Amino acid sequence: MSDTQSFNFKAETKQLLNILIHSLYKDKEVFLRELLSNASDALNRIHFEMLTNQNVLDPEVELNIRITANKDERMLTIQDTGIGMTKDEIIENLGTIAQSGARNFIEATKDKDVDITQVIGQFGVGFYSVFMAADWVRVTSRSHKPRAKAVSWYATGEDNFEISAAEMKERGTKIEIKLKEDAAEFAEEYRINAIIKKHSDYIGFPIYVGESEEQANKQTSLWRTARNEITDEQYKDFYTQMTMEFEGPQHRIHAVTDAPVQLFTLLYIPNKAERGMFSQRKEDGLKLYSRNILIDEYNRDLLPEYLRFVQGVVDSEDLPLNVSRETVQSSGLMPRLKKIVTGQVMRELETLARKDAEKYTAFWEEFGIFLKQGIAAEPTETEKVQPLLRFKTNLNTEIWSSLDDYVERMKEEQKEIYYIIGDDPVSVLRSPHLDYFQSEGTEVLLLTDPMDSFMLVGLRKFKEYELKNVAQADVETSEASEKESEAEKIPEDEFSTLLEQFKETLGERITDVRASNRLSQSVARLVDSEDSLEPEMQRVYRYLGKDYEVPKKILELNPSHLILKRLLAENAGSDLQKEIIEQIYDSALLVEGLHPDPSSMAPRIQKLMEMLLSKDA
Ligand code: ADP
Ligand code: MG
Repeated sequence: MSDTQSFNFKAETKQLLNILIHSLYKDKEVFLRELLSNASDALNRIHFEMLTNQNVLDPEVELNIRITANKDERMLTIQDTGIGMTKDEIIENLGTIAQSGARNFIEATKDKDVDITQVIGQFGVGFYSVFMAADWVRVTSRSHKPRAKAVSWYATGEDNFEISAAEMKERGTKIEIKLKEDAAEFAEEYRINAIIKKHSDYIGFPIYVGESEEQANKQTSLWRTARNEITDEQYKDFYTQMTMEFEGPQHRIHAVTDAPVQLFTLLYIPNKAERGMFSQRKEDGLKLYSRNILIDEYNRDLLPEYLRFVQGVVDSEDLPLNVSRETVQSSGLMPRLKKIVTGQVMRELETLARKDAEKYTAFWEEFGIFLKQGIAAEPTETEKVQPLLRFKTNLNTEIWSSLDDYVERMKEEQKEIYYIIGDDPVSVLRSPHLDYFQSEGTEVLLLTDPMDSFMLVGLRKFKEYELKNVAQADVETSEASEKESEAEKIPEDEFSTLLEQFKETLGERITDVRASNRLSQSVARLVDSEDSLEPEMQRVYRYLGKDYEVPKKILELNPSHLILKRLLAENAGSDLQKEIIEQIYDSALLVEGLHPDPSSMAPRIQKLMEMLLSKDA
């Protein structure tokens, strides 16, 4: 055996093997799935190769997988006619390649909640799962390259593996496994058939077991299988396998279309917007297949940006097979596919929203921000996305309402949809801009997500109703309430004295001070003058970090407010009066979410307390 060379496994692979050999995983059977998946990859690769290159070994041979078993000897053999491996490749692929996947796998095994056997393949170490069931393994391979010689790899799962020259006439890879005593079941054909049914039914090449000439697998992919033949479990497994998101999806969409193009889609909405620790999907995008063969792992041309959280597979009958990524993208077919796939997702979301508010809420709370972003970035999509938007309002702070819900509840004479923007749903309810609407019982959308300001740029109208910021809305006060407040107001001449005192104290910081008929609970509010930037744009600038200065605003005062009445009675120009005016302005800035330095108020408040206490003394 002088032609036998011995190699050491990489350190992390040794550790991984150690875990697998001594594992108590009850799902040892998954090793077969992993080996079949590798065989299928190898078959896919030779299939691809032969599209452009006929100069390969055995070009005529059927692309298939054969499994044979010998119960008495506890032997299991899996042979494919795939691309095969050269000596260098086998050494590299099955032993010496540095494995970040192995490290991640070892890390993941520490988490008891994670069913590792479900996804071992996704760590890029699926092959080694064979050592859950094997005493030893021999891999013999012959590359498709016409001059390559056959080679064999042998290991027992200890620290090293052996490489030697081998006899093998045909192209492909043969894996011989000596099963452990407690894994003898895997040499039973009925057991093998059952595992194939369960885990590998969709492999795209025929699998034959034993002498049988009948395929053990259905050979059609999950997305090409009729919905009523797929269990929830299978749908979920497929998702977990694809994404390594152990939580399972929030929702799935499985659709087949025949016209105008033939298309199979199996899409999933994940549970969380943020990817899990071991997420397999490194980038956004869908897996694009052409007639069951993967041509793009991350295709981003099938959905608009705002649906980029969707995971899954699109398989088209109409895409040419032997095309590069670039040609796929430039072929006129892609926009048509995009339209169909987008329509499927949007329709499904609309149905979900209509039929299952609770589920839709879960969706909205995770992914609503993407849809808002969609409106901000692609205003042409606004109309499509609008029905999916949800809002909390001043009158319905707990439930999410659609714009349609809002319109339905609008008052008869109401002609606009009102919104208020602010920093959080609690403080926004204290805004003086809401005073009038609260007292009239008028509904106002609460826009407190930073993305909302951006969304508003594209969302100016819903149906025939304009969206209107309450801070700017021109509203008519009812006569009754006008009369009522008239009685309590500070007389005009006295009020103008007060206005002067405010102007004097606040100086350049405001553009004007005036009376407001819109305030009831609040003393004052800040509003924009006609020519200033819209409040939502001010926010957009603030979020974008553009030279942000506190914008100059008009201070409006509530002429009926007790504080102002008492303030008038205070000595003109007194310290106390000045500090109170300052505080009224600061408070108005604060509720507006515009205060550049809120903690600067603390010394003043302390001073005010001291003044008040010494007054009484
Ligand atoms: P992964 O399949 O994620 O790459 P595996 O541990 O399952 O990780 O396999 C490691 C590598 O070994 C594969 O990437 C492939 O290059 C090679 N390999 C495994 N089985 C076969 C096979 N049957 N035919 C050709 N190459 C194979
Ligand atoms: Mg694999």
